[in-house]
Amino acid sequence: MPGRRIGGVIEVVANLHMHTPYSDGEWYHADIAAAAQRTGVEVIVVTDHNVLVGGIDGYIGRTLVLTGEEVHDPLRHPQANHCLVYGTSEELALLAPQPQALIDAVNARGGMAFLAHPFEVASPISMDAIAIPWDDWRVKRFRGIELWNCMSDFKASLRNWPLAVFYAFFPSWAIRGPFGQTVRKWDELLASGQKVVAIGNADGHGTPYHLGPITRPVLAYEYLFRCVNTHVLLPKPFSGNVAADRKMFFEAVGEGRCFVGYDRPASTRGFSFTAKSGAAVATMGETLVRGGATQFRIEAPAPAQLRLLRDGKVIARQTGRVLQWMDTAPGVYRAEASRFYRWANRPWIFTNPIYVR
Ligand SMILES: [Zn+2]
Ligand SMILES: [Zn+2]
Repeated sequence: MPGRRIGGVIEVVANLHMHTPYSDGEWYHADIAAAAQRTGVEVIVVTDHNVLVGGIDGYIGRTLVLTGEEVHDPLRHPQANHCLVYGTSEELALLAPQPQALIDAVNARGGMAFLAHPFEVASPISMDAIAIPWDDWRVKRFRGIELWNCMSDFKASLRNWPLAVFYAFFPSWAIRGPFGQTVRKWDELLASGQKVVAIGNADGHGTPYHLGPITRPVLAYEYLFRCVNTHVLLPKPFSGNVAADRKMFFEAVGEGRCFVGYDRPASTRGFSFTAKSGAAVATMGETLVRGGATQFRIEAPAPAQLRLLRDGKVIARQTGRVLQWMDTAPGVYRAEASRFYRWANRPWIFTNPIYVR
């Protein structure tokens, strides 16, 4: 069974956004699951557009394959408000034109809604690469946002044809991290007192790109699984019982016991962010009630530039593998790490916050 023990929790690597031929992807579940297994991704959640495909959930090889859905209104122009739905067993795509009604229906059925690629930048050279942002920011009660969508990140770099040809062969040069607007929006939502879980995904389609005479499956599923994933901290290993494992997995994601990691600069497995105050301890996604000062500890599996943020502002930085910090203030604390890669300091890890009261 998947899983690796770090500090009393089991870390599983998951990807929660991808497509099959049931919507606009190229590969079926079994092939995507095999690609996941080759890359060390242990859980995949397949999210076809406006169809909740039944009868899929289960283990394929060692990969736990779960089904979600990416709901959007195909009649809306310009396109916006793509919503990732997890943990429901009912088709809710008819509610796509009313995002709040959709989110409420998802919650009423015990599921959770995440705003997909909330900011996007169009590529001026490709008709396919239009921007599909989240538009309706009046919505409430969604569980989280897709902080880092690897496909969106890549598309935004296709500024002209020579660059696009270069990136088709060397995509990792085009991957720059979540959009600044997305990170700022996340901090703004957190500051408003909402608990908003951040996830990072592939949005894999396996689509071949046509660049003049060149046809290449740029960003194949397997390539993307080696890029941006969500690392989920489970209280115990998976049992092999699909219903129980599914429940435990979605509960951990929903609580925000996870971080977003980009694995090309270095493996992100084993990253930890914890806080201690008096007898209380907490990790990502958890609330810590202070008993005096709080001791924070960030530990990375490889040397990096580590940052601790409180309410969206950097309060401590350290280059190396460990950052320790003592603080007395309440707030929303989260950790970030970046590494020098492809001639730039590139985002590597974003944790979900520890909520200190
Ligand atoms: Zn989408
Ligand atoms: Zn998608």
